[in-house]
Amino acid sequence: MPDQLIENRIIAETNQCVACGLCLPHCPTYRLLQSEADSPRGRIALMNGVVTKRIPMNTRFIEHMDRCLTCRACESVCPNQVAYGDLIDQMRALIAQQEKSPDTARQSQVLNLLVRFFLHRPKRLELLRRLFYFAQRHNGLYLLGRLNRLFTPRLFKFMTQLPLVKFPCIEFSNECYRTGNAWREIYPAIEQERGRVGLFLGCVARLTDAETLNASIYVLNRLGYTVHIPSTQTCCGAIDRHHGAFSMAETLVQQNRMAFSTLNIEAVITTASGCGVQLLESGLTNDRIKVMDINHFLVTATGWEDLEIAPLPQKILVHEPCTLRNVFRSQQYQYQLIANIPGAQPLPMADNDQCCGAAGSYFIEQPELADRLLDNKLTQIDDKETTYLVTANIGCAMFIANGLLEKGLNTKIMHPVTLLARQMGLQL
Ligand code: SF4
Ligand code: SF4
Repeated sequence: MPDQLIENRIIAETNQCVACGLCLPHCPTYRLLQSEADSPRGRIALMNGVVTKRIPMNTRFIEHMDRCLTCRACESVCPNQVAYGDLIDQMRALIAQQEKSPDTARQSQVLNLLVRFFLHRPKRLELLRRLFYFAQRHNGLYLLGRLNRLFTPRLFKFMTQLPLVKFPCIEFSNECYRTGNAWREIYPAIEQERGRVGLFLGCVARLTDAETLNASIYVLNRLGYTVHIPSTQTCCGAIDRHHGAFSMAETLVQQNRMAFSTLNIEAVITTASGCGVQLLESGLTNDRIKVMDINHFLVTATGWEDLEIAPLPQKILVHEPCTLRNVFRSQQYQYQLIANIPGAQPLPMADNDQCCGAAGSYFIEQPELADRLLDNKLTQIDDKETTYLVTANIGCAMFIANGLLEKGLNTKIMHPVTLLARQMGLQL
C-alpha cells in the first residue's frame, strides 16, 4: 500500500480516539513503565503527530512503538472501537521504510533470514526436523550457537531450551505407531463420520508442537471428524503483518486460501490462537468455511458421550492467550474443554488479562520487558499445587515453558487438547 494511503488510514483511525484513558489500566507496558508514551492513548497521539508531520519519526518514537506488544487489550476495552491492532500494524509498515539503529537492524536481519528461509517455506522446517532432533540429543544446538555469531543470546538460549521435538503421527492406535516427517493429507473419522474439517499446521508449530497437532487429529477423529491437512498450506503471515510486510502476508493468505477453499470441509481448525486470529482477520473464511480455534470447535461438537476419558482429579491452571481473549473473545472454551475430563478443576492463571510477554517475536526483540511480564505470572505459580498449566497458543507455551525451566518449577505446560488426548488414552 502506498505510504500516503497508509498515512490517511492512520489519521482517520487515530482521530477516533477521544483520549478517555479507559484503556490505560489494561495496557501491560503502561502498567510496567507508567509512561504515557508507552500507553495506547500516548502511542495513538504520537502516531497522529508523526503522520501529520508535527513530530519527527525518530529513534525515540520508534522505541515507543516497538515496546507495544500488539496484545490488543486496549482495543478490547475501548468504548470508541479504535482499531488499535490495525493501527499499530499500519504504523510499523511506515516505520519499516525508515532506517533503524544498527542493533535493531542486526536483530531484524536474523529474524528476516529465519522468516524468509523457514517460516515462509514451512516444508523446509519439516525437512530439518530429524537434523534438529539429532542436534537436540547431541548438544549440536549449543555448538551452532557458539559458532554462529548471528544468533542473539536470547534466540540462542531459547533454541537450546526447546523441548525435544516430536514427529507427525502417520498412523494412530492409542499411540503414534508410525511417525514421519509430514502429516498425511487425510485422517478419516473413526466409525461414523459426523463432519469434515481442515487442520492448520502453522510454521513454527509444525516443528516445535507436533504433539498438539497429533493430539488434535486423534481427538477429532474419535469424535467422528475426518481431518484434512492440505500439504500446500503455509505460514499464516502474522509475523510479516506485525512487522509491516503487508504484501508478503497477503501472498501467504492467498496460498492458504487456495489450499483450503477446494476442500469439502465446514471449518479450518487452528491450534494456535495467534495464527487463528491472523487467518480470521485476513479473510480466509467464506460463506462455507469458518476459522475456529480448536477449543471452541470441540466444545460445540457432539459425540462426547461415546468417548471414554480417564479422570484427573487435579487443579489445572489455564493461561488465556491475548489473541484468544482480546480478539477471538473465546477464552472460556479452554475451561469448558478441560471440564470434560472427570475430576479436573480448570482455574484461571493469575493476571490472565495481561500478556505473558511472548507476543510473537517480542520476547526476542524486547527481552527485558518480556521477562518482567512473565515473572509477574510465574511468581504466582506453586508447582506443588499445580502439575499442569494449559494454553492455546504455542508462542506463549514455549516462552512460559522456558520461564518454568529457568525458575526450576515442575509444572508442565501443554495445549488443552493434548491433556484431553492423554486422558483419552493417547500416549504422546
Ligand atoms: S479507550 Fe479508546 S478512545 Fe479511550 S483513550 Fe483508549 S484508545 Fe482512545
Ligand atoms: S496493544 Fe497491548 S501493549 Fe500495545 S498499547 Fe494496546 S494494550 Fe498496550
